[in-house]
Amino acid sequence: MQGLMSDQPLLISSLIEYAARYHGETEIVSRTTSGGEERSNYKKTHIRSKKLSQALKRLGMQIGDRIATMAWSNIRHYELYYGVSGIGSVCHTINPRLYPEQIIFIINDAEDRILFIDPDFIPLIEKIIKSLKKLTTVVVLCTKQEMPEASFIENLICYEDLIDAEDGNFNWPQFDEKTASSLCYTSGTTGNPKGVLYAHRSTIIHSLAAAAPDNLSVSARDVVMPVAPMFHANSWGIPYVATMVGAKLVLPGRHLDGESVHSLITKEGVTLTAAVPTIWLMLFEYLEKSGKSLSPLKRCMIGGSACPRSMMEVFKKKYGVTVIHGWGMTETSPLGAINTPLAKHFDMSLDELLDLSEKQGRPMYGVELRITDDKGKVLPHDGKVFGDLWIKGPWICSGYINIKNSGVHEEDGWFMTGDVATIDPDGYMHITDRTKDVIKSGGEWISSIEIENIAVGHYKVAEAAVIGVPHPKWDERPLLVIVASEGNKIEKEEILEYLKDKIASWWLPDDVVFVDEIPHTATGKIQKLALREKFKEYKLEVS
Ligand code: AMP
Repeated sequence: MQGLMSDQPLLISSLIEYAARYHGETEIVSRTTSGGEERSNYKKTHIRSKKLSQALKRLGMQIGDRIATMAWSNIRHYELYYGVSGIGSVCHTINPRLYPEQIIFIINDAEDRILFIDPDFIPLIEKIIKSLKKLTTVVVLCTKQEMPEASFIENLICYEDLIDAEDGNFNWPQFDEKTASSLCYTSGTTGNPKGVLYAHRSTIIHSLAAAAPDNLSVSARDVVMPVAPMFHANSWGIPYVATMVGAKLVLPGRHLDGESVHSLITKEGVTLTAAVPTIWLMLFEYLEKSGKSLSPLKRCMIGGSACPRSMMEVFKKKYGVTVIHGWGMTETSPLGAINTPLAKHFDMSLDELLDLSEKQGRPMYGVELRITDDKGKVLPHDGKVFGDLWIKGPWICSGYINIKNSGVHEEDGWFMTGDVATIDPDGYMHITDRTKDVIKSGGEWISSIEIENIAVGHYKVAEAAVIGVPHPKWDERPLLVIVASEGNKIEKEEILEYLKDKIASWWLPDDVVFVDEIPHTATGKIQKLALREKFKEYKLEVS
């Protein structure tokens, strides 16, 4: 229509174009796996991302082609975010902690054509390469000197060689903002992981919302370090947000122990960081031992699991750091609700504010939240009744790739999260439970159903249920509940030994309990809620 605003598409490439032009000298720093550091800036990274785009074009990549990454949070991984999405291909970040069968499934389901890996993952990929159907090329994110002398992977390409062959004289194409930009799989309750496809449009709108003052309040004066990995919902979108505002970006690499995280915070002047609670427990342990401070850190966003009040208290009272408690999911880009106070909370004491912060927060502009009962009736926002939590908005997924009926997406855009929550009259949402059969350990999913299915394969097991029980460091760890088959007696060591080579080592239940009966619903399903209630005080042995 004449006189209407420009319909210029919202594309991810525009973020780094902007940062290179207006914040060109602002640094991007990353830790290497060997503990060294790489320093760059938006200007240099912009050119290198363009070179990568040229190289991908040379390799035949087009709009919609999927290109996978298996890498820690580092600068080359950041370049992939822009170089891949910039040409309209889809940057598929893979969680290396999944076990090999899941990784094979994910790469084949996504139909990945090229895989970029940190050198640490060469042995893993060597083992599975023959099962990766559409994959034609593997690129190692390293210099020529760091390339292995020999590998079972044919035609292994060195990243620096790949981009050195290009001149960076390239204009990123303009295309529809609804084009897919990146892909991340989330571990489902049943069956295989499910692919969540982000769009250029959803990523940009999410970033604008995330940066706003009532959300993460990110500015060009911040030094931002996302500790949440780049394969977990794009580091919670933070590498896009930092670029959008031109903040210095610190990418912490592989080692996320207390000392490593602390040294980056102090050395690089980090003012804002973000990760799951487990990371901060490790940091606290280090601070306790070393007696060091957390200056210059100002804000720490915590999500992925409920942030304990005690953690927020230590951050604030001992280290002067404000915790921003937030909630989100891979399916929600990921930010859905953020806990920041309102004007009416000005008079609150610190302890009252900490009480308020235990809630997961209010929906950011753009998303709506609702809760419903078993029959789908929408429940009131009175802060008391709890029900299934739903979310809707322009950065919320409308389905999973290659799955026709997910059972959790409605046609009008509502998505059922699998969380159970209350919502108070001010809109503060509080997670009270989870209906999905997964356990979250240190921010990573463990599928209870997978373990159960394997456990019942043992001839001495009649029925098995796996539930998450509280753990001081990992938030939750799996507890295996077993009914032995008739006439058989099975020992804890025997079943753990049986599971050992069938699941990832960190999925191995921390303990096993034997019961005569497991409770069931009317439809014959294991009543996980009842089991969780029964074992809620269960104390795991913590070494
Ligand atoms: P993911 O897709 O791996 O990011 O996991 C999303 C899930 O993590 C949510 O559906 C919740 O079950 C859980 N989660 C995320 N943030 C929080 C939080 N602040 N408090 C409690 N649970 C959370």
